[in-house]
Amino acid sequence: MKPPVLRLKRGRDPRVRVHPWIFKGDVADVSDVEPGAVVTIVDVAGRFVGRGLYNPRPALCCRVVTWRDEAVGDALLRRRIAVAVARRTEHGALPTLGRLVWSEADGLPGLVVDRYGPVAVVQCLTLGMALRRRDLVSALREAIGDVPVFSADEPGQATLEGFDPARTWLDEHGPDHVIVEEGAVKIGVTFGQGHKTGLYLDQRENRLRVAAHAAGCDVLDAFSYTAGFACHALVAGARRAVCLESSPEAISGAHENFKLNDVADRARIVAGNAFDELRRLDRSGERFGLVVLDPPPFARGRDALDAAARGYKEVNLRAMRLLAPGGVLATFSCSHHVSAEMFEAICREAAGDAGVSLRVLDRLTQSADHPEALTIPETRYLKGVLLHAV
Ligand code: SAH
Repeated sequence: MKPPVLRLKRGRDPRVRVHPWIFKGDVADVSDVEPGAVVTIVDVAGRFVGRGLYNPRPALCCRVVTWRDEAVGDALLRRRIAVAVARRTEHGALPTLGRLVWSEADGLPGLVVDRYGPVAVVQCLTLGMALRRRDLVSALREAIGDVPVFSADEPGQATLEGFDPARTWLDEHGPDHVIVEEGAVKIGVTFGQGHKTGLYLDQRENRLRVAAHAAGCDVLDAFSYTAGFACHALVAGARRAVCLESSPEAISGAHENFKLNDVADRARIVAGNAFDELRRLDRSGERFGLVVLDPPPFARGRDALDAAARGYKEVNLRAMRLLAPGGVLATFSCSHHVSAEMFEAICREAAGDAGVSLRVLDRLTQSADHPEALTIPETRYLKGVLLHAV
C-alpha cells in the first residue's frame, strides 16, 4: 500500500527541504491518513519532497524524517538510532550519563533518549513516535544492550499531540532511584520525578566549566533545580553556596545532592520566587564571587518575547549587582525564541543599568550530545555567557 500524500502549497517546499517542520499553513491538501502515520510529501506540481510523520492535531502537523525516496519504517528508524548511539560512543564506550538521541538533530524528530547509568529514559514528543515506542526501544536495546527503559513523556506536549503521556517503566522494571556521577559530583535521579527526563543534561558540560571559577568563592545558584551548579562549585572548593528555587521536588533533590557530596554544611537553599530573592539579596548588600543564573524559558512563544526580555533583563541586572569585585557571572537563556544576539543585547542593557563593567570570558551552549543541526536553528537553544566583573 502506498503511503498517503501531503501536498504543500506553492512556494512552501524550498524551506522544508532544509528544515523538517511542516505547519498546517504550509499544507495545500492531505489525503486520508491515520494520525501518526507516514505521509509522502510532494510539492504543488506533485514532485517528491520527502516523507514524514503526520498528525492533524497540532499546528506543527508533520515532521520530515527523510528527504530521500525511501520507506520510513522500522529499518530506517533502527539505522538512525544506531547512528545516534555510535556518534556518542568514544573509544568504544558509551558515556554512562548523557543524551543518546536528540530528536531533529539526530534525524529522529520527536524522540529523545537519555542514559542515566543502568537506565535509559525515553521521551516521545510526537504521536508518530509514541505509536512506535516499542519498536524504537527494541532498536535502542539492540544498540546499547538490554537496559530497563523508563518513559518520561511531557504531559503538555502529549496533550498537544493527542496521546496519553507515559510516565512509567516500559516493561522490565529498573531502579526507581539512581546516583549518577557527573565529573567529581554525585547527583541523585528519581525516575518519573522532576523536570526533563530527570536532569538538565544540556547543562552538563557547563556545570563543569563554571565550577572552574568557584574556588574560594561565595556562590549564588539562582534557579538551581537540584543544585547541580552549586554542588559542582562546592566540590571544586567554593566557600559556601546559596541556591534559589521554587519547586519543592527540586528542593528536596538539592538537599539529597548536598548530602551525597558531603557539602550540606556549606550549602543553603532558599525556597521561593527567585525574582524576589534576588531583589532581597541585592538590598541586603550580600555579594558573591560566582553567580549562576539559569532560569526556565521565559518566552514559550514568539508573542511572549517582550515580557521575556523584561524578565531576562530584570534577573540579569540583579545578578550583576550581586557580583563581588572580580566576580564571575554565568548567565543562560534556554528560550528557543530568544537568539544569542538578543540575549547578549539584553545582558548589555542590564550591565548598563547596573553600572557594572563586564568582560566576556566565554560563550556557552548546550552539551555536545545535544548537537546543533545547521539548518534547524531551533536545535541551538541554550545560550550562555560567562562574564567577569572588572
Ligand atoms: N541550573 C539547573 C537547571 C535550572 S532549570 C541545573 O543545572 O540543573 C530552572 C529552574 O528554575 C527549575 O528548577 C524551576 O523549578 C525553577 N524556577 C522556575 N521559576 C522560578 C522562580 N520564579 N523562582 C525560583 N525558581 C524558579
